[in-house]
Amino acid sequence: MRILLAEDEIKLAVSLKKALETERYAVDTVSDGTKAYEMGFDEVYDIIILDIGLPGMDGITLAKKLRQEKITTPILMLTARDTDEDKITGLDSGADDYLVKPFEFRELLARLRALLRRSSHTPAALVYTVDNLTLDPSSHNTQRAGREIGLSLKEYTLLEYLMRNAGKVVSRMQIVDHVWDIDLDPFSNVIDVYIGYLRNKIDKAFPKEKKLIQTVKGLGYKIG
Ligand code: CA
Repeated sequence: MRILLAEDEIKLAVSLKKALETERYAVDTVSDGTKAYEMGFDEVYDIIILDIGLPGMDGITLAKKLRQEKITTPILMLTARDTDEDKITGLDSGADDYLVKPFEFRELLARLRALLRRSSHTPAALVYTVDNLTLDPSSHNTQRAGREIGLSLKEYTLLEYLMRNAGKVVSRMQIVDHVWDIDLDPFSNVIDVYIGYLRNKIDKAFPKEKKLIQTVKGLGYKIG
């Protein structure tokens, strides 16, 4: 899952990006509101974390403008002030949830998971299941046929994205947009490499089980 983090407190932005990456999210950070608006408009994100007080364009104006442009990406607003008025203004602007600073990181993670579940097109699965493969987004525990599978951060993010879209073909471009951050070189073969890693761990390591990861020629990949 890919996140745009718009936050001008650089120390907070850096530590949040690092912590979110450890939790398997791809994170692009931006500290200026106008630039954040451009990125939210041009790029594909699964969630936007938006500080209300940003230079260039404040978070509330930004959220309103994105909604006017029919960008429906879930927005989690960060506010430094805990007054009801701020909350209401934030939610009226098109934000889906808010968090008051300072907050606990695990609280942020829980809110992100809830927003992702609500925005998912598949029924709100707490644990993704394809055949006898299961993936639990809250613990990152991944198992096949009852056996735990150890995945690297990126392998996990890629598998979660495929399982979230189980039965559907996802294109390489969609994978780039949802699994990698903006620094990925679009000409690299990194996606094929990671699909190969996942095949080894999900399919080749279980020779008696059904092959789950499929290449759909010219279109992309599919699980299920
Ligand atoms: Ca700020």
